[in-house]
Amino acid sequence: MSEKLHPVPDEWKTRAHYDKARYDADYRRSIEDPDGFWGEVGKRLDWIKPFSKVKDVSYAPGNVSIKWYEDGTLNVAANCIDRHLETRGDQTAILWEGDDPKDSRAITYKELHSQVCRLANALKERGVRKGDRVTIYMPMIPEAAYAMLACARIGAIHSVVFGGFSPDSLAGRIEGCESRVVITADEGLRGGKKVPLKKNCDEAIAKVGGVDTVFVVARTGADVPMTEGRDLRYEEAVGKASDQCEPEEMNAEDPLFILYTSGSTGKPKGVLHSSGGYLVYASFTHEAIFDYHEGDIYWCTADVGWVTGHSYIVYGPLANGAITLMFEGVPTYPTTSRHWEVIDKHKVNIYYTAPTAIRALMGGGEGPVKKTSRASLRLLGSVGEPINPEAWEWYYRVVGDSRCPIVDTWWQTETGGILITPLPGATDLKPGSATLPFFGVKPEIVDAEGKVLEGPGDGNLVITDSWPGQMRTVYGDHKRFEETYFSTYKNKYFTGDGCRRDEDGYYWITGRVDDVINVSGHRMGTAEVESSLVAHEKVAEAAVVGYPHDLKGQGIYAYVTLNAGVEGTDELKEELIAWVRKDIGPIASPDLIQFAPGLPKTRSGKIMRRILRKIAEDEPGALGDTSTLADPAVVDDLVENRQNRKTGKA
Ligand code: ATP
Ligand code: MG
Repeated sequence: MSEKLHPVPDEWKTRAHYDKARYDADYRRSIEDPDGFWGEVGKRLDWIKPFSKVKDVSYAPGNVSIKWYEDGTLNVAANCIDRHLETRGDQTAILWEGDDPKDSRAITYKELHSQVCRLANALKERGVRKGDRVTIYMPMIPEAAYAMLACARIGAIHSVVFGGFSPDSLAGRIEGCESRVVITADEGLRGGKKVPLKKNCDEAIAKVGGVDTVFVVARTGADVPMTEGRDLRYEEAVGKASDQCEPEEMNAEDPLFILYTSGSTGKPKGVLHSSGGYLVYASFTHEAIFDYHEGDIYWCTADVGWVTGHSYIVYGPLANGAITLMFEGVPTYPTTSRHWEVIDKHKVNIYYTAPTAIRALMGGGEGPVKKTSRASLRLLGSVGEPINPEAWEWYYRVVGDSRCPIVDTWWQTETGGILITPLPGATDLKPGSATLPFFGVKPEIVDAEGKVLEGPGDGNLVITDSWPGQMRTVYGDHKRFEETYFSTYKNKYFTGDGCRRDEDGYYWITGRVDDVINVSGHRMGTAEVESSLVAHEKVAEAAVVGYPHDLKGQGIYAYVTLNAGVEGTDELKEELIAWVRKDIGPIASPDLIQFAPGLPKTRSGKIMRRILRKIAEDEPGALGDTSTLADPAVVDDLVENRQNRKTGKA
């Protein structure tokens, strides 16, 4: 792993909310006196009835219960909108950039208020009440945020389903939370291509039934069939509704939303988040980690269909009265300079994206980046997967002109917000490491038997105490919640991720625990081998899995995507094997390499290793659920060209 250290720039030590001394002091306090610490932080929200209790949590087997601020009441939408009206009513809340570079729009807090109230009233008109579930299946347009906030305003629980999902995936999620109401659009627009959202919706509803209301936003104006009595034109419905809607008084522990995880490791889980604790945590982390200051232009490139879009496009930033940029398109349309052009156009200061996007853009070289200015950028962020040091350095040097710190933020749908991360004014950076725990977060590294590791070493990452943004249950299945997260290690939250802690106490996520490879008794994270492969000049992307090996127990099987124009020869395979051997050691050198034009990824851009594992094990018939794959066709090629065939064509 990278040995390089990037110290906090002097300018950041003074401009940031947190310098090292303050981080150290506040972290200590947050651990020693969580009630005192989170009690104070909780005051950042406007409560209708202030809380008197801060934390009431048990991880005890058979009795897991997580409550924060439990006697307080509030409304999340009022915190994200109404309380800013007096001071920032005419300030931009959402800065929307369309798929077409000519399309953009600024929505002020006042306008946001009016839009959200109208939709809230339209929902009420259709009988939606506190506690009802509403499914949101939308493109990245402001109406997606209006829909989430309108639900929050009347106390309905939203379930956002990523607009790229198939009718089957949508149907499963509508059924899973029994929603009666769906909010969608006629079509989406991504990279110049149309996405048939309404059509998908109709197919999904035909499968599951039970939906009596569908709001349809006119995004492209396509002529879509409308079912009489069920389907409503969004513009008409909100046009008729009043622009005043009293926010519902909600208990801190009332659910705010359900969101399904990406499904990298299996069947997605319906993660349930609370109102009070969630919003405290999303807004606090957004301000501290992205060092948000009044007036900053902040851009998180995630989709609202993922938790990152919930916490760091909508709820965190809006609760802070921030200017949050929402982008409808993709990084490669019309050209691979698009993200950098958006940064220049809107003078973006803070840019938060995923390693998968960085690696893809890196494959296109520096040219498309360097022809833009990016002078407004001050801070960069990464989330979703371990970022390999090579990509980190490229991001730092090429995108950030060696000027902008990078916050590599580790967290999960389940955690509601970021748990392990640098603070840009406080933390010296090590490329590839998510560095140190956020306030109140107590990570531990344990071995398979649960023995706690002191000092440096490798193992499984658990968190030993709660934080306000933690999920409260798996919707409708508390037993699965306990089994998944609290049964592996008693009285600890099990993250499912492998992790290494170094001599400085820095945390390095090594990949999913399920993905750890055991070669001749040596345990190895997949991330390390992948990092090494990607560092080779001809390699664009790599995914590594284990497969049964007669001598070693497990062998290393590497799927490698080459840079454009590079030919995959046997000589290159030898070169890559020698490269990894030299870089990490003989134990890590791949036994089999398969050149792959594409890798199977979830719609959020994560590599689905469980599928790769099955192919490497020569079991293409047992791939499991592939419904959340972005492009199921890549799998056919991988199966066709697999390297470990026991029978048939070699
Ligand atoms: P499922 O739980 O259904 O398998 P998923 O875990 O991919 O899906 P998410 O909650 O979206 O769903 O992803 C969280 C996971 O992403 C983490 O557990 C971790 O493996 C990975 N991850 C996120 N951010 C980082 C990061 N900065 N560094 C390393 N890994 C990260
Ligand atoms: Mg997960």
